Amino acid sequence: MAKFSRRKFLSVSGGSLGLLATTGGRPGAAEPLKPRHSQSAANASTVDVAVIGAGAFGGWTALYLREMGLSVALIDAYGPGNARAASGGETRQIRAGYGEREIYTRWVLEAFKRWDARQEEWGGLPLFYRTGQLSLQRQWSNNLRATQRVLNKLGVENEVIEPDELARRYPQFNLDGIAFGHYTPSTGVLMARRGCFAVAQDFERKGGEFVLAKAQPGRHAGSQLQEVTLSTGQTIAAGQFVFACGPWLPKVLPTPMKGRLATPRRVTFWYGVPADDRRFSYPHCPNFGMAGVYGFPSIEGRGLKFATVYDSIPFDADSDERLVNDHEVERAREFLHQWFPALLDQPLLESRVCQYESSVDAHFIVDQHPDMENVWIVGGGSGHGYKHGIMLGDYVARRVTGQATDAELDRTFQLKQETF
Ligand SMILES: Cc1cc2nc3c(=O)[nH]c(=O)nc-3n(C[C@H](O)[C@H](O)[C@H](O)COP(=O)(O)OP(=O)(O)OC[C@H]3O[C@@H](n4cnc5c(N)ncnc54)[C@H](O)[C@@H]3O)c2cc1C
Repeated sequence: MAKFSRRKFLSVSGGSLGLLATTGGRPGAAEPLKPRHSQSAANASTVDVAVIGAGAFGGWTALYLREMGLSVALIDAYGPGNARAASGGETRQIRAGYGEREIYTRWVLEAFKRWDARQEEWGGLPLFYRTGQLSLQRQWSNNLRATQRVLNKLGVENEVIEPDELARRYPQFNLDGIAFGHYTPSTGVLMARRGCFAVAQDFERKGGEFVLAKAQPGRHAGSQLQEVTLSTGQTIAAGQFVFACGPWLPKVLPTPMKGRLATPRRVTFWYGVPADDRRFSYPHCPNFGMAGVYGFPSIEGRGLKFATVYDSIPFDADSDERLVNDHEVERAREFLHQWFPALLDQPLLESRVCQYESSVDAHFIVDQHPDMENVWIVGGGSGHGYKHGIMLGDYVARRVTGQATDAELDRTFQLKQETF
């Protein structure tokens, strides 16, 4: 595929590269996001880069591009972190343990610092809670050994906790049959929907254009896409296009994405915690993981959350109803019985159905469209992408503007030949 040249990009788009000063605004605070439909008299607008999708991947990409001084339109059909998006919902885990996949551990170590810095820059409501994470194990697995090796190599604090000490520190868990715990204090929880909204709000505050509309590829000339057409009837022309459409990628770009992205259904549950018992709430309870299940303490009073892994039933992000079924509720209740006996009489407070956007190898996808060299495909978060948006957006912005990037990442994120 043709390598994009920054010089060529600037001449095509006519964009200015003067770095904008930040305004010191406070995304996440009270101010509503204002959808704008910027257009000229000809019902069209032109920007350096159009980013389609304001989830964790597209939102951060648009913000970094804007902070580089480019004119950027961020377009979303339903809004940043909306209820259908993979980045929607309340919370996502940020963990450094990734088995052998060291590139993601490295990214997370930098992501921790960036989340702290953005939270400070933006003020407003919290985006990042440092909860720690406790993995309860019956035996050592290859994946856990690899995780421990990589964490030790990179100097990430982690600890193996023997049963007596586990029982002393974590009386809220049923530890029958547990051989040891593995604890990582750096792990945390990110406020997902709030984070997407804060990113889009900062993007707009810094002069980016947010557009609430559904977009699809429009006219092209040879290997150059010229514009996207919007559901509002308008068009947006750009030098470069980033399609960060999460689970919608196969609908928006059917040819290159055919067989390359699965969208399995996933369910999450929130159970009540007793009013006078702090053991299940932040900061007294860590994130937890055990065979087939992971979860978080109650944060901001939402209840103890956990996600269970079920069969991979394909899910349509646009049209499928988001209702948990009786079998799923029953299994969630069994899980509660097994691991949190003190919560047996607590009610289910909330449940949620969402979908992953999984690539064939669970690696992210950042690649040029095979037929259109100014179109970038960005997605494949594969159930672990949210925490990385803050790094991936920077990486994509660099690729789009022709800056040097890590060759190992470029290779890893290629759109693979294999399909499901
Ligand atoms: C239940 C669940 C639990 C998860 N747990 C974790 C976790 O603990 N930690 C973690 O790091 N990750 C986790 N993930 C994964 C992570 O949330 C996703 O990988 C990530 O949010 C994907 O972001 P995205 O921007 O690619 O997609 P999305 O958030 O889906 O964003 C795509 C956006 O594109 C917009 N769009 C689509 N088509 C169009 C169009 N034609 N025109 C305009 N806009 C369009 C959509 O409206 C949407 O807003 C989890 C995911 C799920 C579902």
